[in-house]
Amino acid sequence: MTVLTYHKIADEVNFERQIQYLCKHYKPVLVNQNLSDSKANLLITVDDGDTSFYYKAFPVLKKYNISAILFVVTNLVNTQKPFWWDELQYYLGKEEGNKKVWEVKGWTNKKRESYLKNLREKSSKPILKYEQLTTAQLREMQDAGIIIANHSHTHPMFDQCTPEELEVELSNSTKILKDFGFSPEIFAYPNGNSSVQSEAMLKKYGINKAYLFDHKINKTPPHPHRISRLIVNDNTPMWKFKLILSGWHTRILPFTRFAGKLTGRLKK
Ligand SMILES: [Zn+2]
Repeated sequence: MTVLTYHKIADEVNFERQIQYLCKHYKPVLVNQNLSDSKANLLITVDDGDTSFYYKAFPVLKKYNISAILFVVTNLVNTQKPFWWDELQYYLGKEEGNKKVWEVKGWTNKKRESYLKNLREKSSKPILKYEQLTTAQLREMQDAGIIIANHSHTHPMFDQCTPEELEVELSNSTKILKDFGFSPEIFAYPNGNSSVQSEAMLKKYGINKAYLFDHKINKTPPHPHRISRLIVNDNTPMWKFKLILSGWHTRILPFTRFAGKLTGRLKK
């Protein structure tokens, strides 16, 4: 099973072109089809639960009867809270903020949280607001065959969290998704950052499927808590989209000079 990961969807026309290509050359998991159905060989996943999924991708998927997993950040649902990486750009400017995102991802969770708190308090700018998905929108999508799944409670880097912080993340996100009637047992690591400790914690919270963000194709049936995914965007040109799906992009990437930069830019 080849698994694709999208984030924000900027252009529904490009996205539809990619979906048409996938329908022609692959067998995407369809609405109401089991994730491990042997008749399917491609799964679409979307991280973070940005509203652009609801407005731009969902209508296209519905048109082609294709399912997808939407991984949501539970403390953002039903709020106007921004994603934390967007806050860094807002307070520091686009270029500086973008650089900072990479630095912050390597910090302990505590340091990341206190740095963001400090930025908000010290800035003269008003608090950044961002439209997030509502429970009603998530329910509408679930009813149409989209799986609403777990992308943690606040999107920290799981390899930078203490056991206590992991407990807080997973107890909150699993409870909220369960209460809403969604799928807490399907999880995607924020930014793909995993660790032995966090994998044990996922099992403790009844998570039976966890997706990575490693830009790889699953050649053999994967470990259920280490499922590989390929990274794409709706604006990925068709030649590159095909190259990524073929698995060749993954193979040649380590040899390209800008490999780190390329994958880095795509990660969130
Ligand atoms: Zn994410």
